[in-house]
Amino acid sequence: MKKKKLAKLICSFVSATLLCGSMSVFAEEASTIPGNPENVPENLEIDWMTRYHYEELEDQISEMAATYPELTELYSIGTSWQERDLWCLEITNEEIPAEEKTGIGVFGPIHGGEREAASSAMYFAWWTLLNSDTEYVQNILDNYIIYVIPSINPDGYEQSFVINTRQNLRPRDLNGDGIMFSDPYNDIDGDGYIAQLYSGTAEMTPSDAYNLPEGMKSFGTESSDWDGNGILGDDPRNSGIDMNRTFDYQWGRYDIETAGTDDQIGGITSTTITGAAMEPEVQAVQNFMQKHEMNALVVLHTGEQSVLYPWCYRAYDETEEKDADLPLMAEIAADMAQAATVTTGRDFYSMSSHEDYPTSAELIDYAFGKFNIHAYTIEVYCAGDGEYSWGNSDTLPEAKWVFYTQDELAEMGVDVENLTNADGDKLAEDEGLWFYTSSTNQMVDKVPEDQDIMVQGIKDAILVMIESEPCGNGYSLPDYMQE
Ligand SMILES: [Zn+2]
Repeated sequence: MKKKKLAKLICSFVSATLLCGSMSVFAEEASTIPGNPENVPENLEIDWMTRYHYEELEDQISEMAATYPELTELYSIGTSWQERDLWCLEITNEEIPAEEKTGIGVFGPIHGGEREAASSAMYFAWWTLLNSDTEYVQNILDNYIIYVIPSINPDGYEQSFVINTRQNLRPRDLNGDGIMFSDPYNDIDGDGYIAQLYSGTAEMTPSDAYNLPEGMKSFGTESSDWDGNGILGDDPRNSGIDMNRTFDYQWGRYDIETAGTDDQIGGITSTTITGAAMEPEVQAVQNFMQKHEMNALVVLHTGEQSVLYPWCYRAYDETEEKDADLPLMAEIAADMAQAATVTTGRDFYSMSSHEDYPTSAELIDYAFGKFNIHAYTIEVYCAGDGEYSWGNSDTLPEAKWVFYTQDELAEMGVDVENLTNADGDKLAEDEGLWFYTSSTNQMVDKVPEDQDIMVQGIKDAILVMIESEPCGNGYSLPDYMQE
């Protein structure tokens, strides 16, 4: 297979470890990276501490395109199950022919609820356009075509204003009544959030949903029991599909010989509900990538603070020809993480995605495996102090536990007589329901602390990635894609 030529390494202002290439457009003494844009026109004012609905993102990106027609093309690359458009904003100096420029992808979240990742993609587009009169950004736009897709999963993004979900909204009939999504979650106690429900008495004092007091049983999720079967919330808007396990590369890979070892991939990492590239959103992204040449791609997530690179499905193997670029990408990822750390003052780490945790059929493996695109995951934000601190919730609200008696439940419209859980248990005479709302469920309409600073750090990491790619003519199709 014809190998893609290695990136000419370029001096980066935030990168100390990479060598300088002689072909660089970013000479060491070149203009510095501009900061937050000044004099923002009214139609482009965006509050980076606001959680915007998808429709609002659509308005904002249309305004960007309308304000900078000479630098942008805005088009839909496809639609979701619920007919929301997946928008792409192409940003470049259109006067320079495309074949003299290098393609770069900046893709927002594929996981619906990872919305600060969408804000990071939006900020990158906004910052680039509003600084397009600076020497630094002009250099970028003369040499690169940047494809910004704010969200790959707009249905999941929007559903996450109800309850945080990774998934898309492929219609599903979990309760088997022949009607899709016939028992969605809704807020019956009016506190603004969707709670998990547990049976118990008022005297119980639950503190931790993972260590329930003796005798407490799960009673589903807050809902009006729309389907009237007595089980609350048993057919929610929830497809069960993690689309980032369904790209057409190493799909459903499960090596039985490695089961139980660190190399095991399976179970939770793939899904039998759908197949490779069966979701319309995934098809849209794959079709787009087959038609648009790119040297580098970043896919934005959130939940950690890290920069990850392929493979997701296996460890680096120096004897594999396909792995030749991985050491370079490891260096670039480290520099990207360093850039984000400097700007945000929070720790970012870098490693291969497999080392972080093994999965298969992820978008970055598809991009690198099929097209040799240098593909990175940036995880934008972790609650708490950052590094490795999953579940550290210092900066999140306290989880809430509220008890309601059977009379109070009846007032909310619950048919207590017929109420049952999925196992057929009913409430005892002295029992009611505990409503548990986790910290993250209370963040549905809020941005995390420091989002305005985080989006700037992510922008700096993306710039390191762009500068690491050669300008113009940097891309070559893998053999099997050539005529
Ligand atoms: Zn994610």
